Amino acid sequence: MSSLEPVALPAGFTPYVWAPGSADVAARHGLRVEQVLRFDQNTPPLPGVPQIPLAESFARLNEYPDGTYRELRQSAAAYVGLGEDSWQQVVVGAGADDLILLCARAFLRPGRRAAIETPTYVVYEEASQLAGAEIGREVEGADLVWRCNPNNPTGAITPSEELVELARSVPGAPVVVDEAYIEYGGESVVPCLGAAPNLIALRTMSKAFGFASLRVGYAVAAPGVAAMLEERRAPAPVAGPAARIAAAALREPRLDVAATIAERERVAGALRAAGFDVPVSGGNFVYVRTERPLAAELETHGLIVRSVAGGIRIGIRNPTDDDVLLRALGIEIEQRQSRSATVIRTTTETALRVTLELDGSGRARVATGIGFLDHLLTLLAFHAGFDLDLLAGGDVDVDEHHTVEDVLASLGDALAQALGSRDGLTRYGAATVPMDEARAVAAVDLVRRPHAEIGLGFAGDRVGGLAVTLLPHALERFAMQAACTVHVESSGDDDHHVAEAAFKALGRALREACSPGRAGSTSTKGAA
Ligand code: PMP
Repeated sequence: MSSLEPVALPAGFTPYVWAPGSADVAARHGLRVEQVLRFDQNTPPLPGVPQIPLAESFARLNEYPDGTYRELRQSAAAYVGLGEDSWQQVVVGAGADDLILLCARAFLRPGRRAAIETPTYVVYEEASQLAGAEIGREVEGADLVWRCNPNNPTGAITPSEELVELARSVPGAPVVVDEAYIEYGGESVVPCLGAAPNLIALRTMSKAFGFASLRVGYAVAAPGVAAMLEERRAPAPVAGPAARIAAAALREPRLDVAATIAERERVAGALRAAGFDVPVSGGNFVYVRTERPLAAELETHGLIVRSVAGGIRIGIRNPTDDDVLLRALGIEIEQRQSRSATVIRTTTETALRVTLELDGSGRARVATGIGFLDHLLTLLAFHAGFDLDLLAGGDVDVDEHHTVEDVLASLGDALAQALGSRDGLTRYGAATVPMDEARAVAAVDLVRRPHAEIGLGFAGDRVGGLAVTLLPHALERFAMQAACTVHVESSGDDDHHVAEAAFKALGRALREACSPGRAGSTSTKGAA
């Protein structure tokens, strides 16, 4: 028996529970983990790209981060429109969750009451209860009012005037407005802090910025309120590299919000047309009101959504992934115009999932279990301007052969699918890329003539841990599956450079060949 006596949790308290892990879902339904798609986290499908060199951000791991977080707070103050001189109105935390706990600690205790609407984000209730407070819906007489705008899970948007009015009706209590999803819809209360100084806005780097793993959030409040929260925060809640990456991103935001909003509307429209009850959403997710155990039904297909009060919440991914979910719900999807594809391939040797968007911005998340292959494909995607999300698990305990081959073959399949009819392409692409002493030349013809001429002049037997014969072989498979002609020649003194230059050159050649060309056929024979 433990002699520890923690403060008792209130009756009915439930700790935060995450949706089941991908590996558990795969095991439960006899699937490979690569077949599992997550729609539960409300995060973008691709990570944000750190806009400072990673080595630089990790250079002083022995030192504590700057405890004032001045750079991050200045960037955040400028980003929310207050101007960087108002940086002391910003309080940082390890994600918005940390700031929810901070607000609860600052304003609640036994005998106090928090006002919460339902359904909403569950952490307000947990934080209030951990502080010992009572919970109710009634705003009048509350010691803290929680609001989520746009609301998770319903997506409902509350006009900022309504929130100001609410804050003015309870001038002695803080009204904490969680704006985690504000970039996807609705208006912020930040410009209203002067009119209602008891408002506290919470923001996060986890959603539109794509940095959930960094754990950075911030609160924006009137100067006195911010100073009071600042006094009560942990000494260094945000890791140094996380603070630097977040500050750089806030200075120069690169968000995919417009594409996500358009996709949200498409998914919501398709669900409504199929008879589902889907309210208007201002987030990067849609809420489906239903009595059906849809989360459990979808899970059998390896599709993880969030089960929430009154229904399910579906986080928006990209069109091809979302189509997998819509089809699993029995919804017929018309062939889309967008040039993207998701390929899911499972054999006894490998399992993989490739999502390729040709008109992307060169962002990649590649995890094949083979570091050098991840590196080469990241280079290829970057130089091609493709967005690539590639997850593979293979029999690397045998050797790398099957994984490398199947990954390139599936990437070829994805390219063939994403190219669709191949009308209106530039069709040819060529590039010469130096890499220090190495030099690679690549030429591509996207007309359906599968052919490969690959000459990689390696001096040794292995490169990046791979047998040197494997890369040309895999590039040949890529060309065959993509049904196009691929020539790549690369030579130099350093085998690592030879391989890198080859994949960069191929990327650049693909970028040119895939770009829109003149209307109509690009073959004198008529059909491409
Ligand atoms: N607020 C809301 C409304 C959320 O949905 C979430 C995450 N699901 C958070 C806060 C947590 O954000 P963070 O990652 O910044 O802790």
